[in-house]
Amino acid sequence: MGYFDKLKKAMSGFFPVQTREDKDAKAAESVAGPRGLPNIHVLATGGTIAGKQASAGPHYHAGEHGIEALLGAVPTVRGLANISSEQVTNIGSQDMDEKTWLKLVHRVNELLARADVDGIIITHGTDTLEETACFLDLTVPSGKPVVLVGAMRPADAVGADGPANLFDAVVVASSPDSAARGVLVAMNGNVFEARDVTKVSTTAVQAFAAPNFGPLGQVHDGRVFYWRRSDRASARQQPEFDVSGLDKLPAVGIVYGHANAPALPVTALVEAQYRGIVSAGVGNGNLYHEVLAALADAASRGIAVVRSSRVAAGPTMRGIELDDARYGFIAAGTLNPQKARVLLQLALTRTQEPGEIQKMFDYC
Ligand code: GLU
Repeated sequence: MGYFDKLKKAMSGFFPVQTREDKDAKAAESVAGPRGLPNIHVLATGGTIAGKQASAGPHYHAGEHGIEALLGAVPTVRGLANISSEQVTNIGSQDMDEKTWLKLVHRVNELLARADVDGIIITHGTDTLEETACFLDLTVPSGKPVVLVGAMRPADAVGADGPANLFDAVVVASSPDSAARGVLVAMNGNVFEARDVTKVSTTAVQAFAAPNFGPLGQVHDGRVFYWRRSDRASARQQPEFDVSGLDKLPAVGIVYGHANAPALPVTALVEAQYRGIVSAGVGNGNLYHEVLAALADAASRGIAVVRSSRVAAGPTMRGIELDDARYGFIAAGTLNPQKARVLLQLALTRTQEPGEIQKMFDYC
């Protein structure tokens, strides 16, 4: 029986509380690959974790080193897992695009279906890491661990955080306790769920937080400790959205709210025939009156309008200061604007109907 076959069995039905005996039995069956170690496949996409610093000064280029060089910096991971790897792309994640997302999700699903792959790690730039994590969380099954990892300092910087983060990612991906938690992010000793994690610092190594629900767990001394489980991710044994037949996603834009905001960005997206607009509104997703009028007009033309917020934490609630039902708007809940955009793109592959889309936001 393979490394995660036992887990699959445990996953049928619901997730029973694990007894000590269950854990011991699972550990005894962790023998899928050579040396009795799990088989972990790394998909590399670039980012600062693969960045190269110029000889002097702070300037550097993301996405320069190949994955073998990154793994070479942490030889001890070979004692945790049988590691294989491939370079999917090598970019700064400010250049991440939906073509790469679709390539990534097809490859991840292909690998997850294989009996000889027990977990997947994706190295990624930190700028858009949360969006890729959110996209994959909604398009891959939540059985075997899929872990995104990045770094804030280039690979050759003094005090580079990439090797430690990569080591932790291997720890997380190799642990049976990481299964059925949805797509995970391992950064600076924390493990986050894809849904809530967001970049909160432009420069600090503690660059990520989960502002609404906190981290799922932490990695210490080569072991991962989980403090809680996300019910939504755990319930998702099948991908929420099937993108296998797609080569592009519906166009969805984000408009940023502020005092005295103009309607122009909204009207530009409407004229460009975007199918959806996410508002990064003020406060509880509120809108300057000119923007409200433009978004109401967009919704009346059949464009899906989602209200999110530029505020870092807390849900954007339906019908508090704005009558969403009257305008045909959708409220984003705790999804931040960039993740609401991802979910709306996926939702629009199924329906344009605001009530149906609202249900997806309520559930996902
Ligand atoms: N802009 C780069 C990227 O997202 C650097 C950020 C990072 O990886 O820390 O790839």
